[in-house]
Amino acid sequence: MVKSIGKLKLFSIALLLIQASYSQEIDSLYEVATWYGFRKASVNFTFDDGCVNQFAKAIPLFNEFDFNLTLFTVTDWSPSWNTLKQAADSGHEVASHTVSHPNLSQLPSGNQRTEFGNSKAIIESNIIGPRCLTIAYPYCATGIDSICDNYYIAARGCQGFIEPPTPGSFLNISSIICGSEGSVKTFNDFKTRVLSAAEMTGWCVFLIHGIDNDGGYSPLQSAELRNIIMYLSTRRIKYWVTTFLNTALYARERNALSIIETSNQDTLITLQVTDTLPDSIYHHPVTIRRPLPEEWPSADVLQQSTPVNKRIVKVDTTVYIVFDAIPDGGEVVLLKNNNAAVPEIDTMPPDDDPIVNNIINPENDDVSNQCPVSIIIHDNGLTLHKLSVIKSALTVTLYDLSGKNVFNSKIHFSNGNNSVFLPLSIARGSFYIVQIRDGRQSWSLKLYSGS
Ligand SMILES: [Zn+2]
Repeated sequence: MVKSIGKLKLFSIALLLIQASYSQEIDSLYEVATWYGFRKASVNFTFDDGCVNQFAKAIPLFNEFDFNLTLFTVTDWSPSWNTLKQAADSGHEVASHTVSHPNLSQLPSGNQRTEFGNSKAIIESNIIGPRCLTIAYPYCATGIDSICDNYYIAARGCQGFIEPPTPGSFLNISSIICGSEGSVKTFNDFKTRVLSAAEMTGWCVFLIHGIDNDGGYSPLQSAELRNIIMYLSTRRIKYWVTTFLNTALYARERNALSIIETSNQDTLITLQVTDTLPDSIYHHPVTIRRPLPEEWPSADVLQQSTPVNKRIVKVDTTVYIVFDAIPDGGEVVLLKNNNAAVPEIDTMPPDDDPIVNNIINPENDDVSNQCPVSIIIHDNGLTLHKLSVIKSALTVTLYDLSGKNVFNSKIHFSNGNNSVFLPLSIARGSFYIVQIRDGRQSWSLKLYSGS
């Protein structure tokens, strides 16, 4: 009797495995990116407990560089809903850190249900629109997974390691504690972690409480946070800096995805991109690539008749059409385009570019560390004005916001000349990061080319 039950169980497990492997079917010509945009790693900056400088310093910094962060909110601690609403409007994630910040592992199941469910309901009633779908455990202590799972698609712990592309459990995703009590205190500590994450195509979650002297736990110096954000801002091709929720959505969609080519004609290819997940939650685009058909000079991509993000990219000797599609978002159509495209080649920015020893930072009033030039951006180039004595040549490097190096030059201020004009073509309404180096130190600044 015992034996036959055992066999039956084994049989059911085998059946489930077969179903699981059949539920994901990727046509052999297609590849799904491990991370959005075929980046090497996903990096999340998560902030707990609503410490003051998260709003006064971190959010303005992330807004400045067009990055999004995650705020884990304790709903009983009188958060400023107006401020949180503004953050959500800028694309930041407002998620749960429970109602009252208890140790869930010591709580009866009924109370856990209240902590999980009520915090979600309160956040969703105050911030209309985005759903509250992730949680961070207070004291990193997990509750009962089957209860948590009713409300959230991902939960954050703090085991201190970088997760692989698919974490062991979506309900206890590791994070790394930052600041005075954590293992990440400086720019170099951050950089070491993101480099390791890229090595393993991993998922790196940073956990931050206090910033500077705001009284929060384990304060992190804002200058160190600014430095790693500057570093990542010129390496967007390599790192996907986004919210905890976006990474969780992407990882789960990628693992449940099917791509089936439904027709292949001379000038048109159609495909179905589907997953097995509820569409009301899982509608983050996934990035897919396929070799560009040999006779096609270029291609356009539509989903549900609407053009989607696409690039023509050469990797080794293969030219790919790379595009975004929303799973279950309607038929995807690839159309032959006869205008020849020059394939892009993704060159990763150097990891050890000697950036951000010093930054043009309004809080830094140490004159000896200030950038020796001011910079004005025009339609047709940059003007650099000398602010102090400059002994050696300066190297000027310009990046666009995708992290691409678009200009690099050495400049000299000849005797009696206080300004230098560098002609180059500037796209209007765009952000650039300019980096100035004098051989000893470097400064970085974000420029906007006006609308
Ligand atoms: Zn906390």
